[in-house]
Amino acid sequence: MLTAEQTNRWLERFAEKIEANKDYLSELDGIIGDGDHGNNMARGIEEMRKKLQAADPASGSEVLKNASAALLSKIGGAAGPLYGTALLEMSKQMTEADDLSAVVKAGLDGVQKRGKAEEGEKTMIDVFAPVYRELESGNLTVEAVEAAVESTRELKATKGRASYLGERSIGELDPGAVSIGYLFISLIEEGL
Ligand code: ADP
Ligand code: MG
Ligand code: MG
Repeated sequence: MLTAEQTNRWLERFAEKIEANKDYLSELDGIIGDGDHGNNMARGIEEMRKKLQAADPASGSEVLKNASAALLSKIGGAAGPLYGTALLEMSKQMTEADDLSAVVKAGLDGVQKRGKAEEGEKTMIDVFAPVYRELESGNLTVEAVEAAVESTRELKATKGRASYLGERSIGELDPGAVSIGYLFISLIEEGL
């Protein structure tokens, strides 16, 4: 599967996107949540960078494991445990499978087990699940990820803080869907 070097490049590109869009993510969360998603993610990313730079990993799986621990300990909120689980489950699968779609599926299953969200509830699952299906059919594109992110706009939130808004959550993007979208767009841009 992915080498340590490839995985480091993937996560570094993700980190750059989170940093560049930190205020945007918090703005989105300010509309349907409590306005902290960009700051939460940026805090996690800072710790992840430190950890990845200090480590001397033997495999992509090990890089993901280190990143998972950093994100879990620093993002906080609802997204921290979900990102932590996603990367940890992907890390475990990466040692066994040699197929990226199986790796992404393991992350998706982990997030669903932890957060109990189905597709259509206006969460990061609405990006994770279609990304997995596209990978499985062999043609994940940036456009497909962006379309999945955009699809959260018309959904009514029924999980997480945004669900407190009910119908009023319709019309805005889900911030967690946008941030996880950056993770998958980074994967594609790195050619992995
Ligand atoms: P908090 O809501 O605690 O302030 P964040 O703002 O960092 O945490 O993260 C909010 C994001 O977490 C949402 O936009 C959504 O994508 C994601 N999320 C929340 N609850 C769930 C869940 N049960 N399953 C999947 N994703 C979720
Ligand atoms: Mg929030
Ligand atoms: Mg919060």
